[in-house]
Amino acid sequence: MKDFPETLDFSYETQPVRVVFRPGASVSATPGEAAGLGLRRLLVVCGSRGEATARTVADALGDACVGLHAGARMHVPVEIVERAVEVARAAGADGCVAVGGGSAIGLGKAIALRTGLPLIAVPSTYAGSEMTPVWGLTEHGAKRTGRDPAVQPRSVVYDPDLTLSLPVDLSVTSGINALAHAVEALYAPDGSPLVSLMAQEGVRAMTGALPGIAVAPDDLDARARALYAAWLCGACLGATTMGLHHKLCHVLGGSFGLPHAETHTVILPYALAYNAPEAPHAVAALNRALDTDDAPRTLHDLARRLGAPGSLAELGVTEADLEVAALQAASQPYANPREVTADGILGVLRAAYEGHAPVS
Ligand code: NAD
Repeated sequence: MKDFPETLDFSYETQPVRVVFRPGASVSATPGEAAGLGLRRLLVVCGSRGEATARTVADALGDACVGLHAGARMHVPVEIVERAVEVARAAGADGCVAVGGGSAIGLGKAIALRTGLPLIAVPSTYAGSEMTPVWGLTEHGAKRTGRDPAVQPRSVVYDPDLTLSLPVDLSVTSGINALAHAVEALYAPDGSPLVSLMAQEGVRAMTGALPGIAVAPDDLDARARALYAAWLCGACLGATTMGLHHKLCHVLGGSFGLPHAETHTVILPYALAYNAPEAPHAVAALNRALDTDDAPRTLHDLARRLGAPGSLAELGVTEADLEVAALQAASQPYANPREVTADGILGVLRAAYEGHAPVS
């Protein structure tokens, strides 16, 4: 089976983003990216744990840096955004550089949403936010997301050196988070042949790199291949509409406070197994990229082999939570190849709760 339906019928929109990829680029390329965008007064934002790395980027920017704000937090709480916007305004910033994982880039996007300031992203995980025009904000305990071209970073600087410090457990779950973007892009209603190629190459490169990183976290070649895969998977996320898997992870993260990358890791094989009967082209493409005849099982086994959490129970979810989550996830319509029912979702959640090998 071909990996894209025989009848070619698609639209594809290119995001206006420049990508630079090389070891050392966070320091060697960020100043040039800022200058290329005409930016002279940049605020660098990061989380508290990423401050030392962000400082090296701020130092490289020299006089073009007007401040470093280490205020990013998980899920982008709105109070944190208000504080960061004040800091950016007080410093007279004409742009932001976000250094770190999805949380730091999320703060940079929220500043861009509020102020219109252009954003440069220097990612240090594989979450992929840097390649999307999607923002997220948490207010009164609820996370809202939306799409706005204003939050799409104008320039993305990929530096594999920055990922050397990412602990193995987070590298594995963050890498599988990236795989989830590629998987859902392959059956997205707005997929295209180019997205399909990026998704397959992303899956191939990430699943090839992660076992090497688990054995030797300081293997720069494996790190570079994983970050390259993260770029491709992030580009898939930015170009398409995600389905059941992302919806479930959003509900589990938002309402039950589950950790982002770990939740993606646990849910992915089961969401894919549920969708597989209605997504034969996507499954064929994944099988080829993974060199298997059972993509959900292979993804499940890979995560287990690399020591990732294997069940929702391990993440602290209770059986009683499953029905609540299923009802929430079924309450709003969204694109998915297979019909989404509360019962269907409950089946996916139960399987993920138990953590046994998925059955397509
Ligand atoms: P994160 O940014 O919260 O980082 C996880 C932890 O890893 C943090 O403690 C951080 O300090 C640490 N860390 C990051 N890089 C490190 C490094 N190189 N070395 C050592 N420690 C490092 O988590 P994440 O998984 O990168 O991002 C998750 C967030 O991003 C979620 O809120 C999610 O909703 C959002 N996200 C948004 C999009 C989008 O398109 N808008 C896409 C993907 C993820």
